[in-house]
Amino acid sequence: MFETLGERLEGALSRIRGKTRLTQADVDEALAEIRRALLEADVNIGVVNLISERVGVAAVGAMASPSLTPGQQVVKAVHNELIDVLGQDTYRIRFASTPPTILLLAGLQGSGKTTAAAKLALLLRRQGRSPYLIAADLARPGAVRQLEILGEQAGVPVFSEPTTPVEVATKGVAEARRLARDVVIIDTAGRLAIDDALMNEVSEIQKATQAHLRFLVVDAMIGQDAVVTARAFDERLELSAVILTKLDGDARGGAALSVKEVVGKPIAFASVGEKLEDFEPFYPDRMASRILG
Ligand code: GDP
Repeated sequence: MFETLGERLEGALSRIRGKTRLTQADVDEALAEIRRALLEADVNIGVVNLISERVGVAAVGAMASPSLTPGQQVVKAVHNELIDVLGQDTYRIRFASTPPTILLLAGLQGSGKTTAAAKLALLLRRQGRSPYLIAADLARPGAVRQLEILGEQAGVPVFSEPTTPVEVATKGVAEARRLARDVVIIDTAGRLAIDDALMNEVSEIQKATQAHLRFLVVDAMIGQDAVVTARAFDERLELSAVILTKLDGDARGGAALSVKEVVGKPIAFASVGEKLEDFEPFYPDRMASRILG
C-alpha cells in the first residue's frame, strides 16, 4: 500500500509547520522532501519543478517576514501551489444557446467512460436538465447493455441501434432534438491503447455530430500517463476538459496534478466511486486539501 501523497507532504511539512523561525537548512530540507513526495506520487517532472520553485520563493519570503508563523506560511504556499496546478476555478459546462448541448465522451477502454456518461447524466438531471444518452460504443461487448441499465437507474433515456458508431450518434442526436432533450451525452468506444482505429472513429463521430464539448475520461490510477493520453486525444478532438475517474483509488495524485498544467485542459468532473452518485464537479481547493490531508 502506498503512503498517500498527503501523508508524505504532511511528513515533509511537519517539521517546519510549527516553527516560528525558519533557517535556510529547514527550507532546503522541506523542499527536497516535497519534491520527493511529488515524484513518488507520479507527478510530471515539469509540475514538480514548478511547485518546488514557487514554494521556494514563498519560503524565502516567509523567512524574512516578521510573522510568528513562517512554517504555516510555507504550508499555505504548498496549498496555494497545488490549487494553482489543479486549476483555480471550478469548471462549468457552457450550454449551447440552441439545445441540445452535445457532449462527447472519449477515452481508453476501462477508463470508466460508460459509467461516467451515466453519472454525468444523473448529475445533470438532478440539476434540472433533461439529458439523453447515446450508446455509440459498439466495440466493447456489453457496453450498450451496460449503458441501458445505468441509464435506467439514472432515470435517463438511452438511444442505441446496432448499426455503426457514426450512425448511432447522428440518429441519436436527431432523436434527442425530436424529443426536445436539452443535453446529449455520447458514449464512444475505447481501446486498450491509443491507436489509429480508435482515433479515426471518435473523430468521425465528432465531425458528424459537431459535439459542443469534448471530454476525455481518464483513469486517475494511470498517474502522469494521463498526460500522454490527453495530448493524443487533444490533437484529434480539441478537448474541452477532462473527467478524472477512480479518484477514490488514487492515493498518489499524479494524474490530477499533471493534467491541467501540462495539457492545459481543466479537470471538469471527478468520479470517486462505483455508484452513480459518486460523481461531482472537480473542486481544485478540495482536492488540494485532500492531498494535504
Ligand atoms: P469504459 O470501458 O471506459 O466504458 O469503462 P466502464 O465505465 O465500464 O468502467 C470500468 C470499471 O471501472 C467498471 O467496473 C466501473 O464500475 C469502474 N469504475 C468507473 N469509475 C469508477 C470510480 O470512480 N471509482 C471506482 N472505484 N471504480 C470506477
